[in-house]
Amino acid sequence: MTSGPGLPRPELPRAVLPRPVLPRTVLILGGTGEARELAARLAHAGDLLVVSSLAGRVADPALPAGEVRIGGFGGVAGLTDWLRDRHAAAVVDATHPFAQTISANAVAAAAAAGTPLLSLVREPWTAGPGDRWHEVGSLQAAAQVLPSMGRRAFLTTGRQGLHTFAALEGLWFLIRCVDPPEGPLPAARQVILARGPYDAGAELELMREHEIDVLVTKNSGGALTAGKLAAARELRLPVVMLRRPPLADVPRCSSAEAAARWVEQCLAAAHRVS
Ligand code: NAP
Repeated sequence: MTSGPGLPRPELPRAVLPRPVLPRTVLILGGTGEARELAARLAHAGDLLVVSSLAGRVADPALPAGEVRIGGFGGVAGLTDWLRDRHAAAVVDATHPFAQTISANAVAAAAAAGTPLLSLVREPWTAGPGDRWHEVGSLQAAAQVLPSMGRRAFLTTGRQGLHTFAALEGLWFLIRCVDPPEGPLPAARQVILARGPYDAGAELELMREHEIDVLVTKNSGGALTAGKLAAARELRLPVVMLRRPPLADVPRCSSAEAAARWVEQCLAAAHRVS
């Protein structure tokens, strides 16, 4: 068949036209080991664009596989726009169990954009035989009970909120965080900058070396930072344990493997509908 000037262009039958295959975007709200594991698992899935989002709090973050964006979205509206603009096929909230604002924003934005949302949150730690946990609901409550529990505290609640302990007198603090803390800090202190994982033997040595008599921690869960709990148990030390904030009522799983399966099912369902 030929075509030339003046002759009508023959139209190819529609069925022959190749359909453009656009990669489907999956957003992972990250900042955790589980988020990185999920990004690595999805990185090899065919026509998938995996975008991991980090808050930008850490100066030298461990970067996940795939595309990475860093910094806030600008609240619920910004995240909703992002999901719509990128035609996101799914979003997995794999942020830390104590990152409450971004998780609430994810629920609202996913609903507004009509994007399926999964919460990937690791199981909390639970007290076992030999543990002496004192559970509290906030950093303020932790600061309140601390003077009655010890004099030399190992503070592992992260960089944010350390000012809550600044006014406590008569206590010495070993403060461990990833980046240097800012703002008011307890006067009697030593700051160590480190990033997990931490094994139980090294934690035991550290706590012995600094004569720690009480541990303060969030109930972050996970094996990578559980060594301090084993060390506290071994030394028979009390632990001020911050309870987790309540979780949103959305589909949830606790492993990157299960989250990867959910993403695949989600994309397969969307494919059947389109
Ligand atoms: P947050 O209080 O829940 O969120 C505060 C704001 O930070 C959010 O409104 C959002 O800004 C931005 N943000 C948080 N996580 C983000 C992400 N993954 N991508 C893009 N923007 C994000 O958060 P946070 O407790 O400070 O935690 C910040 C990050 O550190 C999270 O990625 C979390 O997984 C990680 N982390 C937190 C803890 C902890 O104890 N909280 C511990 C270890 C790791 P916009 O409103 O502008 O979007």
